Amino acid sequence: MMDEREVRLGQLNEEVRACPKCPLARTRTKAVPGEGPIDAEIMFVGEGPGFHEDRQGQPFVGQAGHFLEELLASIDLRRDQVFITNVVKCRPPENRDPAPMEIAACAPYLDRQLELLSARLVVTLGRHSMARYFPGQSISRIHGQPKPEGHRIILPLFHPAAGLRSPAVAEQTRQDVLRIPALLDQIRAAEAHAPGPSSSSHGAETPGARSEGEDGEPQQLTLF
Ligand code: URA
Ligand code: SF4
Repeated sequence: MMDEREVRLGQLNEEVRACPKCPLARTRTKAVPGEGPIDAEIMFVGEGPGFHEDRQGQPFVGQAGHFLEELLASIDLRRDQVFITNVVKCRPPENRDPAPMEIAACAPYLDRQLELLSARLVVTLGRHSMARYFPGQSISRIHGQPKPEGHRIILPLFHPAAGLRSPAVAEQTRQDVLRIPALLDQIRAAEAHAPGPSSSSHGAETPGARSEGEDGEPQQLTLF
C-alpha cells in the first residue's frame, strides 16, 4: 500500500530526475535521488554520485558502496534497511567537489527528504554533508561524535571513499560505526518516553544538548 508520504517521495524522485536547477544537470547521465524505505531509522548522506552511480541512477553502488555495505553488515544492517542519499543528486564532472552553489541549489531536495522520512539518526559521510550540521568543523576532529539536533541525532563519519584510500581511516570508521546501535537504542527509548526526557538512569546529558520541549514541538533529543 502506498501511503501519502510514499506518493510524495515518488514525486520528489521524479522532480530530481528532471531537475534543471544547477549546471550538473547538463553533464549528468542519471540523477540519483537516493533510495531506501520511507520508515528507515537511519539516513546516510554522502557527497554526490560517482561514475557508477551516475550510470545506474542509484547511490553508493561502486567501491565506496561496497565499503558502506561492509560497515552496515558489521552492525547487522543491510543497505535495503536504511535510506541512502547525497548532498548533490547529480555527479560532479570528474568527481570534483560539489560547488557551493550546486549544494545550495540541491539543498531543498535533501530538506524535503528529511521532512518526509522517519529517520531520527542522520549519518553524514564526508565533509560536504557534515558541513550542513557542523559548519566550520573539521571531520578529522569530530568524526564519530554524535550531536542532538532537534528530534534527530547527527553522526558525522569519514566518507567511505576516504577509507578506501587510507587503512587507518577505514579502521577509525569501522569503530565509529559501532556507535550506531546504542544511538538507535537511545532514540527508541526517547520515543518510548516521549514527550518527557528519558527516565533512564544513565546519568547526565551531553553538555550543550538543549532541552526545548515547547508544546507542540518535537522534544529535543538528548544523549544519555
Ligand atoms: N560517493 C558518494 O558520496 N555518493 C555516492 O552515491 C557514491 C559515492
Ligand atoms: Fe538539480 Fe541537484 Fe541535480 Fe543540481 S545536483 S541539477 S540542483 S538535482
